[in-house]
Amino acid sequence: MIGVVGGGVAGLAGARRLQERGYDVTVFEASDDLGGLAATYETAGDPVEKFYHHLSKSEETIVEWIEELGLGDNLEWRYGSDAYYVDGVVHPMDKPWEILAYPHLSLYDKFRLGMLVLDVDVRGGVPSFDTYERLEDFEDVPVREFILDHTSRGCFERFFKPLLEAKFGDRWESVSAAWLLGRVKFRGERDILKGELLGYLEGGFGRLIDAMLESVGRENVVTGARVADLGIEDGAVGSLTVETGDGTETHDVDAVVVATMPDVLEHLTGYECGIDFQGTVCSVISMEQALTDTYWLNIADEAPFGALIEHTNYVSAERYGGEHLLYAVKYVQDLGDELWQKEDEGVEETWLSGIEDLFPDFDRESVNWIETARSPKTAPIYERGYLDMVVPYDLSEDVASGVYYAGMASRAQYPERSINGAIVAGEACAERIGEAE
Ligand SMILES: Cc1cc2nc3c(=O)[nH]c(=O)nc-3n(C[C@H](O)[C@H](O)[C@H](O)COP(=O)(O)OP(=O)(O)OC[C@H]3O[C@@H](n4cnc5c(N)ncnc54)[C@H](O)[C@@H]3O)c2cc1C
Repeated sequence: MIGVVGGGVAGLAGARRLQERGYDVTVFEASDDLGGLAATYETAGDPVEKFYHHLSKSEETIVEWIEELGLGDNLEWRYGSDAYYVDGVVHPMDKPWEILAYPHLSLYDKFRLGMLVLDVDVRGGVPSFDTYERLEDFEDVPVREFILDHTSRGCFERFFKPLLEAKFGDRWESVSAAWLLGRVKFRGERDILKGELLGYLEGGFGRLIDAMLESVGRENVVTGARVADLGIEDGAVGSLTVETGDGTETHDVDAVVVATMPDVLEHLTGYECGIDFQGTVCSVISMEQALTDTYWLNIADEAPFGALIEHTNYVSAERYGGEHLLYAVKYVQDLGDELWQKEDEGVEETWLSGIEDLFPDFDRESVNWIETARSPKTAPIYERGYLDMVVPYDLSEDVASGVYYAGMASRAQYPERSINGAIVAGEACAERIGEAE
C-alpha cells in the first residue's frame, strides 16, 4: 500500500494517478473534512470557498482534470474587475482609459509599467524582448532594486510597494525579482478592453474535491486520521502510524507521499525546509447588497485588510440565493500579529469598522453572517534564493527510499501557490513512484 499524508488537492491528485498506475493507495486526512485550503462554507445557494479562489488562463493541468472528472461544462471563464483604493477613492484599473485616468501615476510611470507587463525591457531607450525570459537570472535580484531599475520611482512608490506590503508585510524587501516576474507571467490572458480572464467552477471548487474523492473511492480515504510517525528502517520507509479518535494504528507501506505543509514533513522525517510561510486570516461577509462593483479591490490606504474581494462581482449573487459575498483578508507574517491574536468576533469587528472607515455608506445592518477562517501557513514567502529551498518530489536521497513530497513547498507551487500547482505536485510524485519501480 502507498500511504498519502493529507487529503487536500495534492494528496487526492497523487492518489488518483497512483491508482491509475495500479497501486493500492490510502489517503489519511487529519481533519474531518477533505480539501485543505480549498474547503468551503454553505450559503443560501452554492457553497463558497473559505479562502477566495479563481484560476488563471496560464494554468492548464487543472483544466484537464476538470474535463477528465466530467465537470468540463461547469468551468466558466469571465473577466474579473480590478480596482485600487487610494486616498478615499476607488480607481478602476481594467480598461486603458481607466488606467490613463489613474491620477497617482504619471504618463511616464504608466508607460514603464505597461512595458514591464508586456515583457519589454525599455531601459536605455532600446527595446529588448528577451530580457525577462529566464526567471533564474532574477532569482538573486532584490525586488526593490529591480522595480526601480526596470520601471520608475513613481511605479515603485505608488504602485508596487503598497501591493508588496499588503502581500508580504515587512518581509517584502526579501522577495526576489524572479517572483515578481513569474507572477506577471503567471497571470494569464488580459483583454485590453475587458481586463483579466479568470476561471471558476460553477458550484465552487468543492465540486472538484468531491469529484476527486469519488474517483479515488471513499473507501480509500480516511478522515480524522493524523499521520504522526513514519517507520524508517535501513534507509527505506516501511510503515506509517496514524492517530484517530479510536487510538493509534500502524500500517505497512511501500511508499509515502507527504502532501502537507513542510513542517509536517519535518516532524515526520526530520527534513528541514528553509522556506518561511505566512498565515492568513480571511472572512467571508454575506451582505444584503453589494459593497462595490469591483471583484478585486487592492487597498493602498490604512486599513486592517490588504484587499477586499467581492466574490459576487465575479460570480452572480443569484448563485448564492441572493447573498452578496465579500472576502476581507490579511496575510500575517508572524503569529504575534495583533489581528491573529484576536478571537473570530474581534477579527469580524475589525473588518466591519475598517469597511465603515473606507465606505461611509456601508450599513452593517445589511450583514447576514460572517465566517472566519485562518491558517498559520497558507503561502510561501518567495524570498531570494527560494528555488534552492524547494523540497524535491523524491526524497530518497535526502530522507529515505519511498518518501515523496507533494506539498506547498514543492516546485510546482512557484511562483504562486494554486490548486493547479497542488495537482501538478501530486502527479509528479505518482510519476516518480512509477519510475522508481
Ligand atoms: C487565501 C488563499 C487564497 C488562495 N487563492 C487561490 C486561488 O485564487 N487560486 C488557486 O488556484 N489557489 C488558491 N489558493 C491556494 C490553494 O488553496 C492551495 O495551493 C491548494 O489548496 C493547496 O493544496 P494542498 O493539497 O497542497 O495543501 P492543503 O490544502 O494545505 O492540504 C493539506 C492537507 O493535509 C492535511 N494534513 C496536515 N497534516 C496532516 C497529518 N499529519 N496527517 C494527515 N493529514 C494532514 C491538512 O489537514 C490538509 O487537509 C489560495 C489559498 C489561500 C490560503
